[in-house]
Amino acid sequence: MALDLNHEAAAIEADAARWFFQNSDELFIVMHQGVIAWVNPAWTAITGWSREETVGKTLVDFSDPDEAELINATIRTLQTTGEAATEHRLRARSGEWLWFRSRSTRPVRGAALIVSRHITEERARDAAAEAKRKSNELLRAEAGIFAWSYNPDTGVYRVDPDLSGPVVPGSVATIEADGSRTLTLETLITQIHPDDVAGLTQAFFQSVDTGEKQVVSYRHWNPEGQMWSTLRAAWLGTHRCPSGKWEMLGVTHDMTEVAVARDAALHGERAAQAAAEAKAQFLANMSHEIRTPMNGVLGVLHLLKREALSEGGRRLLDEALGCGSMLSELLNDIIDFSKIEAGRLDLAPEPVCPASILQGVIRLLKPEAEAKGLYLHATVEADIGWAQLDPVRLRQILFNLIGNAVKFTLTGGVEARLALAAGPERRLRIEIGDTGVGIAAEAQESLFERFHQGDGSTTRRFGGSGLGLAITQRLVRLMDGAIGFESREGEGSTFWVELAAPKAEQPLAADEDAAATLLEGLRVLVVEDNGTNRLVATRMLEHLGASVETAENGAEGVEAARRGRFDLIFMDVQMPVMDGVEATRQIRALPDPAGQAPIIAMTANALAHQQASYITAGMNGAVAKPLSPAALVAEISAVLGSAGAAAAA
Ligand code: ADP
Repeated sequence: MALDLNHEAAAIEADAARWFFQNSDELFIVMHQGVIAWVNPAWTAITGWSREETVGKTLVDFSDPDEAELINATIRTLQTTGEAATEHRLRARSGEWLWFRSRSTRPVRGAALIVSRHITEERARDAAAEAKRKSNELLRAEAGIFAWSYNPDTGVYRVDPDLSGPVVPGSVATIEADGSRTLTLETLITQIHPDDVAGLTQAFFQSVDTGEKQVVSYRHWNPEGQMWSTLRAAWLGTHRCPSGKWEMLGVTHDMTEVAVARDAALHGERAAQAAAEAKAQFLANMSHEIRTPMNGVLGVLHLLKREALSEGGRRLLDEALGCGSMLSELLNDIIDFSKIEAGRLDLAPEPVCPASILQGVIRLLKPEAEAKGLYLHATVEADIGWAQLDPVRLRQILFNLIGNAVKFTLTGGVEARLALAAGPERRLRIEIGDTGVGIAAEAQESLFERFHQGDGSTTRRFGGSGLGLAITQRLVRLMDGAIGFESREGEGSTFWVELAAPKAEQPLAADEDAAATLLEGLRVLVVEDNGTNRLVATRMLEHLGASVETAENGAEGVEAARRGRFDLIFMDVQMPVMDGVEATRQIRALPDPAGQAPIIAMTANALAHQQASYITAGMNGAVAKPLSPAALVAEISAVLGSAGAAAAA
């Protein structure tokens, strides 16, 4: 019975082995005395060689000659150890080379049994995976890009196996048995900047639900560098998990360097801005330094006008006053340029008479035109009257345009026309036509660009900086206006400007002579450290009928204000011991009526926003140095007018 059973079992085993030989996906090759004695059907199915074509040949017959040595070495190992294993290629009947992983054994002497698994596809997959790994490695090392995946069913975030380095820059992860680094999302989140967590997780879990693509930037703590890395992650769903949520595939890009570079660029921009502001400040300071002595010179010249002078002396005086004004204009141009550079040019509109400003500019430029034998005149439409405009800027625009017209005209002349423009709002239109050299068509387009000049030869012939038109255009824009021109080379040019010019009332005391009694019977205090300026201010105010006392610095000024009852105080801003702003604060703190006296700043700081800050400090108005009688009268009228109105109220 037992014998029978054993016999039966052996028969089953033999059948099974035969069945396995016949049906296996692996090749079975039986070798005898070095030649192939038997192959299973898988051999023919995979290689295409029939059993007849195969039996009796050697393995080397199917191998690459380059691999003959590998095969022979394997056979030698088999002979000495009884077993061998190798990966090698066999040529299919189609001529294609197929990869196999073979193990062989030697059941009896002179025989060998080889089992070979076909691995061509597996090797191709491995090669592809290796290429992907290398490209990921390269992306990470050279571009700071990390590829990752996230499985919502396990909650695990992982990067490709074999990649060295952390899951995300600086993060700490678990290293799995297969070499991949994993991190639970909870752990990952603890490493993200608290301000970025909500946005990042909201976007991420939305994708987990919908599979949609998202791109998010966030900060991730890098413990090695002890800093926040700036990361940019993009992801999308690849397929649905059994739970119905999407498995994510993503890349994370370390943008820290880019962010640092961007910050540096921003910093550079700010530094440039700060430099421009420093330059503007420097120029404002310089202009103060230059204006202080110039204030003295011009003030004395204005006083001289009231002295008895010979005819010749008066002409010389007018000449000196004209040059002084031009020097002021030049100073203003330099300051404007710096203010435009720093992006802060403030307007100070007031009631002005555009016609007399135009006439004033024409008067200033007339000597230059006459010296060249040119005519220069202005025609003014009758009903222009007064307008609310910044006089300094209007004068500057006219000076630039008429100055250019005179400069670029060799014969004939220049005519300026002032009129009201057609249209619903009140706008001035000024046209300046010349019979000059004109502007070449190709130069016309970029004429308003900074430092641009008609052409090289023009520069040599006429000089100039190429700044005038650029400044003019910006001023015009700032004044809610427009500028343009028409020109023909060799025939002349016409520049035009239109400016918003709301109607204004003529100020009452603008007439210098009629103002002789403006301050009749009033007590005025002048606080000014510079002796010449003190003298000039005192004399100008005395001409207006005031009785004047002086103080040499802010502290003395406060003391004087406390003792005497003044109807008006003129206050220099920059002074030793105590400056004008502080003195104003202290005067305002005095008991009435001393604390109530109207205070007018005298300042060489032409920057409008600085003037505004004096008003904030408690002053009632400001006049620019160098003092001119007309501006003084206008400001006194304005301040006393409003102070009177306030008192009446
Ligand atoms: P600048 O006069 O200092 O060179 P501008 O900015 O005022 O600078 O003018 C730029 C250029 O425009 C001048 O160099 C000149 O070539 C041209 N231009 C300006 N006005 C006239 C004009 N009236 N006639 C001919 N060319 C002009």
